[in-house]
Amino acid sequence: MQGGEVAIEISGVGKWFGEYQALKDITLTVPFGEKLVICGPSGSGKSTLVRCIDRLESHDTGRIVVDGVELTNDAASIAQVRAEIGMVFQQFNLFPHLTVLENLTLGPIKARGLSRAEAEARAMHYLERVHIPEQADKKPGQLSGGQQQRVAIARSLCLEPKLMLFDEPTSALDPEMIAEVLDVILDLATEGMTMVVVTHEMGFARKAADRVVFMDKGEILESAPPEEFFTAPKTARCRKFLNQIL
Ligand code: ADP
Ligand code: MG
Repeated sequence: MQGGEVAIEISGVGKWFGEYQALKDITLTVPFGEKLVICGPSGSGKSTLVRCIDRLESHDTGRIVVDGVELTNDAASIAQVRAEIGMVFQQFNLFPHLTVLENLTLGPIKARGLSRAEAEARAMHYLERVHIPEQADKKPGQLSGGQQQRVAIARSLCLEPKLMLFDEPTSALDPEMIAEVLDVILDLATEGMTMVVVTHEMGFARKAADRVVFMDKGEILESAPPEEFFTAPKTARCRKFLNQIL
């Protein structure tokens, strides 16, 4: 057992791409059980931040600790942290030549040592949870975008992560498919999953989030519960952003 109640602790994190500073002194603590929504204009560093939490990018300064394990260059720490995190992207990244069921059983068999039967039982369990068990034998290309994203969420759940990171999970979807994906994420939130969700779906933020963080130009400018965030944003940049998207 790793220690305690803090899922993610980020302190003083800076990140540069060459001369360009994408993250500036980011400090953020996410307790287990929290549902955190991150929003902000394009290019503000939201993806870079969540990618640093999963070590898809490395931070240059400061500290990131996930469930008691500090992310360093040490491969063992990275593997330990990744094993706890489920990550869902805008693009679904499913294997097109495998069936839905095969996409879901691959990780549990290869990375967790489950038998095929165990992995298939688990895959069907999570396909039920995202309401598409009947799609198990299809290839991803035969599914709608919303269904594919739900498969991607189920694939993450099959690895039984302790926390989930979502980076604009509905941005690539046609409008009529956004709700079915947000509803699945909302169900997970209701069941107590710790999650960080980068999204501009402010209706979702109002329903699901314990806290909303607003980023701009690599900085966190606001961090508040949704009622306060939407009714009384403190900075002009956040008010302008909300005016544009609401
Ligand atoms: P957001 O997700 O908020 O739209 P990103 O985190 O993707 O923002 O990007 C933040 C800034 O960092 C942008 O200016 C982007 O161009 C830059 N950036 C992101 N990834 C890279 C990279 N791999 N190389 C160079 N610049 C990058
Ligand atoms: Mg992004």
